[in-house]
Amino acid sequence: MATTDDMLDFETCLNAVRAFHGHCCAGSILGTRMAILGLHEIGIADPKGADRKNLLVFVEMDRCASDAILAVTGCHPGKRTLKILDFGKMAATFVNLKTGKTVRIAAKNREGNAVRTREDIEKSPHTEEYAMLPLEELFEVREVRVELKPEDLPGRPLLVVTCEACGERVMDMRHVYRDGKTLCRPCAAGENYYTPQKEVRP
Ligand SMILES: [Zn+2]
Ligand SMILES: [Zn+2]
Repeated sequence: MATTDDMLDFETCLNAVRAFHGHCCAGSILGTRMAILGLHEIGIADPKGADRKNLLVFVEMDRCASDAILAVTGCHPGKRTLKILDFGKMAATFVNLKTGKTVRIAAKNREGNAVRTREDIEKSPHTEEYAMLPLEELFEVREVRVELKPEDLPGRPLLVVTCEACGERVMDMRHVYRDGKTLCRPCAAGENYYTPQKEVRP
């Protein structure tokens, strides 16, 4: 039986990350260290066991570090405990749902205003320094407050409605009221992320 300390040991966590993410890279190392630090700061010792219902994480990028944070914390979108915000920032916020303690951890800007292209990143991927540097050189940690709405929390949907424009069902209060109509967000905005082509019979 692993002790509490062992569960969030760097090597143990990195193994879990490697198994889930498929490789070891700068982003996954940074995410692993960020997740261990975040859990520590909010007082979560056993995220996949005793504390599994007390934890929620916001990640601010859809990249390797997000996989690492998922693998270390056990939070994931299907459980509604991992919220992915597509800001392209190496940052995450860890919420202890029981105590309310919440911290945001952001990677320190160590490059100033330098613009790095994919080529630059391939030449020097930062993998080793992310593994070796002391935490205080890598991360800014700040206590924050996050307003969690009941409809964002784990559990069955509070409400499901039908969009009056497209007829599709909308869960979790993601609908909007516009000119007296109940609409899904794409219909309300008048734009979607896809362009419809021909319908296909399954
Ligand atoms: Zn990766
Ligand atoms: Zn709609």
